[in-house]
Amino acid sequence: MFSTRPSATGKRGAHRAEDDRKPVTGKVAAVVALGALASVGAAGGGSAITPLAASTDLAAAIAVSGAPEAPVIETRHEIQPGLETAKLMRSEGLMARQHVTQAIQHASAGYTARQAELKRQQEAAAAEAARVAAQKAAEEAARRPKVAKPAEGAFTSGFGARWGTTHYGVDIANSIGTPILSAMDGVVIEAGPASGFGLWVRVQHGDGTVTIYGHVNEILVSEGQQVAAGQQIATMGNRGQSTGPHLHFEVWLNGSQKIDPVGWLGERGINL
Ligand SMILES: [Zn+2]
Repeated sequence: MFSTRPSATGKRGAHRAEDDRKPVTGKVAAVVALGALASVGAAGGGSAITPLAASTDLAAAIAVSGAPEAPVIETRHEIQPGLETAKLMRSEGLMARQHVTQAIQHASAGYTARQAELKRQQEAAAAEAARVAAQKAAEEAARRPKVAKPAEGAFTSGFGARWGTTHYGVDIANSIGTPILSAMDGVVIEAGPASGFGLWVRVQHGDGTVTIYGHVNEILVSEGQQVAAGQQIATMGNRGQSTGPHLHFEVWLNGSQKIDPVGWLGERGINL
């Protein structure tokens, strides 16, 4: 809005004089535009327009001065409180949304970081558990015997000629059900019926040696199974060509050469 305020004294042109005769008592609303201001300036008889503030400012005021008798015209941008409030609210809304977005992004980044840290800790714990388990297994393996006596009982028959034939193993007699143990670590290569032995188990060891366990009553392992020295693989029985419950035990060097188990076990600290 701007208002015109006629000067009380001074010469003025016809146009101004006409204005003076009709003094403006009320406020004159006008669209504030440079063009409009220029028109006002022209009407003021060559008066200069001096902007006091940038026209884009909300409360810019422009004073028009010129001839002494020229009326002072003041203009200022119309302020529409409703519009300004709406603008302010919109700005605050944008800022609030921005803050929320930033908060969400920040929280999301924090969550991701925490999840990554949690995963790292879990992996580290799992790796440590695996390392401890491996160490424990290695220690237990180191404590385990490398060779075990195949069965407890009475040594009833040795390796060699017997009753007009050759006895290719040793006999250890005990009651039915007595545990039969693998002499060394190895893999079960056969577990089942065998002519003359009723049921047998054959275990191949790391150096190629195969040990045989015959006349067993019950087989506790299966072909292909890994067994450890001292692990029970069967129970003592009386199957096949047997005159009483006992274990018939053989040692085959390189899987074929049958040797005296007494010497083989003796070299490994086991006395029958
Ligand atoms: Zn025998």
